[in-house]
Amino acid sequence: MAIALAAAASREDEIERIETAIVDVPLRRTHFHASGTHAGQSYVVVELRTRGGAVGIGEGVTPGGRAFWGGESVETIKATIDSYLAPALIGCSVFAHETALKLMDRAAARNNFAKAAIDMALHDVACRLLGVPLSALYGGKVRDSIPVLWPLATGDFEQGAEEAIRLLSERRHRIFKMKLGQGDPAADVRGASKAIQAIHRQFPDACVTLDFNQAWDEQTAARWLPELEQAGAALIEQPVAAWNVEAMVRLAARLDIPVMADEALWDYHDAYEFFRRGASDVYCVKAAKGGGLRRAYKAAAIAEAAGIPLCGGMALESSLGTAASLQLFAALPDLAWGCEMIGPRLIAEDLSTEPVQYRDYEVIIPDGPGIGLVLDRDKLRRFQRP
Ligand code: MN
Repeated sequence: MAIALAAAASREDEIERIETAIVDVPLRRTHFHASGTHAGQSYVVVELRTRGGAVGIGEGVTPGGRAFWGGESVETIKATIDSYLAPALIGCSVFAHETALKLMDRAAARNNFAKAAIDMALHDVACRLLGVPLSALYGGKVRDSIPVLWPLATGDFEQGAEEAIRLLSERRHRIFKMKLGQGDPAADVRGASKAIQAIHRQFPDACVTLDFNQAWDEQTAARWLPELEQAGAALIEQPVAAWNVEAMVRLAARLDIPVMADEALWDYHDAYEFFRRGASDVYCVKAAKGGGLRRAYKAAAIAEAAGIPLCGGMALESSLGTAASLQLFAALPDLAWGCEMIGPRLIAEDLSTEPVQYRDYEVIIPDGPGIGLVLDRDKLRRFQRP
């Protein structure tokens, strides 16, 4: 199919230049996944300029900035944008969003994280030209703040339980995501069960979800997940390998609590397939892996049609990427599982002049045009990789 390059109506909205820079920022603490552990977080900062001088900011992000989670890393994101995506978009209107997505697909297959960085910059600049917050493009915000979960991802269950109890006492979080699966299954189940029960003894309403990051095989999951359900786990995330969709269907049928796909479910085509087959009881909307906000919204709409509840997911974005996702999440009519947007709380240095704010278990949706926040150029210079 031929793609007509959507000529800009004026110089104001015509893409002139797209620049990228890798930044490396430290984390406050090491972040543990069954599939990879990291002490820093890297980003690709994207600056998209129109001929009229308007600027949109995008953020390329993967967990850690590394390749372990989904194959892309900040290095591949930067290279893909510089060599393929940016050249394909020069001259295109920032208001021709679907055309821009098609041009990117034609220039580079897959590379969802790289495309998501551009998609964010396109949203930001278009909304700044219109003088509206990004949420306006998705119907306007239906909430001013969203409950936000905290990852218990230090690799130590006892420490995790203590941390959760402290955060509950301080009214900071009441939904938690415990990372597990790297150790011996019996020991992990014992540790996690004890931690969940310790949290529930003091805070019966606390919600503890479990993320395995693909660590188990189906037999291990079938043997041990019912025990974790018994212990009070609220949701099971990606217990088995991403390719094993049949196992997800069987495990979801076997457990009363929801089973949720993450590494297995990328874009809205996967969303359709997974909900149709019963392979994910909850959908975690993620802009980065989903190929950008616009495609993540399409997947969220498929979930809505299928009666699948939503969670707003993340890839450890800074306040910039967090703000962009929050704009979308704020406009989703039903967000039953809250969101996971705690990147700004995990990084020791932020990339926005004003960081995203948190209050009373919730994260506040930033106001203002575009994503609602502004790039801190001093920080960009300070943390830019030479
Ligand atoms: Mn996950």
